[in-house]
Amino acid sequence: MLGMSGQMRLAESSVAVVGLGGLGSLISYYLAAAGVGRLVLVDGERVEKSNLNRQILYDSSDIGLPKAYLAAKRLRSLNPLVDYEPVASMVSRSNVEDVVGDVDVIVDALDDWRARLVLDEYSMKSGKPLVHGAVDGFYGQVTTIIPGRTSCLACIAPRRIEARGCRSALGAVVGIVASQEALEVVKLLTGKGEPAANRLIVVDGFLGRLDEVELKPVECSVCLSRIGAGQA
Ligand SMILES: [Zn+2]
Repeated sequence: MLGMSGQMRLAESSVAVVGLGGLGSLISYYLAAAGVGRLVLVDGERVEKSNLNRQILYDSSDIGLPKAYLAAKRLRSLNPLVDYEPVASMVSRSNVEDVVGDVDVIVDALDDWRARLVLDEYSMKSGKPLVHGAVDGFYGQVTTIIPGRTSCLACIAPRRIEARGCRSALGAVVGIVASQEALEVVKLLTGKGEPAANRLIVVDGFLGRLDEVELKPVECSVCLSRIGAGQA
């Protein structure tokens, strides 16, 4: 499937999973199991009882404990060959470079558009690909941002950004979105398959459908200039 060369590429790669809630639990699990060489695990929150319907890295004995360290501990017992770097803080403009500056791919597993847009801006600035996923109730979405080739997250961000996104997502829908995100990362790292670039995969768990929306650059100060520069 991935072959020896694909497996080697994964082992030599590093990925930052930003957000270790429902999405991040599963994405980091799949990436650790797949044998990604180094995982930076970023989350400043502690486990709450209401998280346990979807945040499968944690159990009821973890309530009150910091997610980043717990995640590293759980994943280490799954695959001790991976190098885990827990970062127990939220990502912000002031720390983004320190936190994700030396990885190959950044994964948005957040529930907060403000923090997402910090990752987006840094992705565009640094040229690092960003795999985006979001969930809300029965619905979810995934796309891969490749600086210079695709439009950015700011292009599809809601006009009115709430400080906190929807925190009540159905666990099984989170599972679909997280699997799609992990798959995007594996494709980017190994060069196999086609990333969901300039395409938004829309998960409709209510009707049991996966749809696709073509993403076209809009007037956007974050990415348009970069696409223009890439073509010049
Ligand atoms: Zn944009």
